[in-house]
Amino acid sequence: MQAAVISAEWAPRPDYPLSEEERRTRTARVGSSVWKHPQVAVQELPDPVCGPEDAVVRVAAAGLCGSDLHFFETDADGYMHYPGLARFPSVPGHEVAGEVAAVGERVKHLRRGDLVCLDDMVCCGACEACRRGFPNQCENLEDVGFTMNGGCAELLRVPARNLWSINSLRARYGGKEQVLEAGAVIEPFTVAYNALFECAGRIKPGAFAAVYGAGAIGLAAVQLLRASGAAQIAVFEHHAQRRELALRFGAHHAFPANGEGANGAQPARAVLRELTGGAGADVQVEAAGAFRHTMPEMEAAAAMGGQIIIIGRDRNPAAVQLEHLQVKKANIIAAMGNTGHGTYPNVIRMIAAGLLDPTPMITHRFALRDFAGALAQAQTRQGGKVLVKIG
Ligand SMILES: [Zn+2]
Ligand SMILES: [Zn+2]
Repeated sequence: MQAAVISAEWAPRPDYPLSEEERRTRTARVGSSVWKHPQVAVQELPDPVCGPEDAVVRVAAAGLCGSDLHFFETDADGYMHYPGLARFPSVPGHEVAGEVAAVGERVKHLRRGDLVCLDDMVCCGACEACRRGFPNQCENLEDVGFTMNGGCAELLRVPARNLWSINSLRARYGGKEQVLEAGAVIEPFTVAYNALFECAGRIKPGAFAAVYGAGAIGLAAVQLLRASGAAQIAVFEHHAQRRELALRFGAHHAFPANGEGANGAQPARAVLRELTGGAGADVQVEAAGAFRHTMPEMEAAAAMGGQIIIIGRDRNPAAVQLEHLQVKKANIIAAMGNTGHGTYPNVIRMIAAGLLDPTPMITHRFALRDFAGALAQAQTRQGGKVLVKIG
C-alpha cells in the first residue's frame, strides 16, 4: 500500500531523563526531547494484516491537525515541536474515515463495507485510570497516528473497538464520499464534546459563551454550544478567514484575538463585559493554546458561576488570580482526550440528526501523493481543515 511515512532521528537531549521503557520501545513520552530532523515521504509499505480483534479500513480521507504539524516543525536544534508520545518511522493521521475492508474473527459490531470513523485513542483497559473509568487518562495509551501507524495510507489496521459506524450519516449526506469526508472531521468534535459535556457539564440553554481560537476544535465547540442552546457565542481569533468560518459555524460575534488590546482592538474582557451588560461569560473555551494571553481575559470575563474550559495545549505557565474565581464561584476545568463515555456515538447521532455539520470545516483537499502540499497548506494555519484524500 501507499502511505505517507515520517522518519526522524533518535537523539535524546543530553538533559532528558530517558527511561528504560522509552529506550526499549523507542517510544518517546516527550517527542520534542528525543526526535530530531523529521522528514516525510510517500512510499510503498506492506499491507497490514488483520488480527482476530482488528479491522482493516480502506481509508477514504484523513484530516491534518495541529499535532500533525508539530511533527514537522522543529526548534533551533532540529528537534520536532511535538511534545507527546511518538515513535518513528510511522504513518501520521488520526482523523480518519473509510470503509471496512476486513474484520477479525472475534469482531461482532462491524462488517465489510461498513463506513466508519476512527477513535484514535487505543486505551489499555487494564491500568488504574482505565479501570476507574478515565480512559482519556490511560497510563499505557497507544494513539493511532502517533505511536501506531495512522490513516495517511491506503489501508489502516486498528483494534475494531476503535471504529464507529457512520452508516447512519448516509441519510443525511447521501453520497458515500460526502459521508466519509464528514467522518474524517468527527474527531475534533469529539475532543470538544468531551471537554464541554464530560469534563465540564452543567452548560445551560441560554448561556453566554466565548470561544478563544477558531481552529477545528474551536469551530466544533461553537457548533456544540449552539446545539446545546447557548444564546450568544463570541469568538476571538487572529485570522480573518477563521473568523468568517466561526460565523458560518454559528457564532454570533467574531473578534480579532488581541490579548492585551494590541492594534487598538479591545481586549476580550472589555468586549465581553459590553456584550453581556457587565454579567460576564458563563462558558469560556480555551481552544487557542495561548494561556498567557487567554487566562487573564477569561478570568476577568467570567460570569458568576462561570466555567473556563481548557482544551488548547500550551507548556508555558500562566498566572491565575484565583481570588477572582473564588469571588465569582467560577471554575477552571481542564480537559484532554476524546474517547469513552459515549462521546463518539453521541457526536455521530448529532450529525445524523442535523444538529452538527462538520463538512463546512473542510476548506482544502489534497491527494495522498501530494502529502507535502497538504502539509504546506495546513502550516499556514489560516484556512479550515485540510483533508488528505486517498483512493
Ligand atoms: Zn487532531
Ligand atoms: Zn489504560
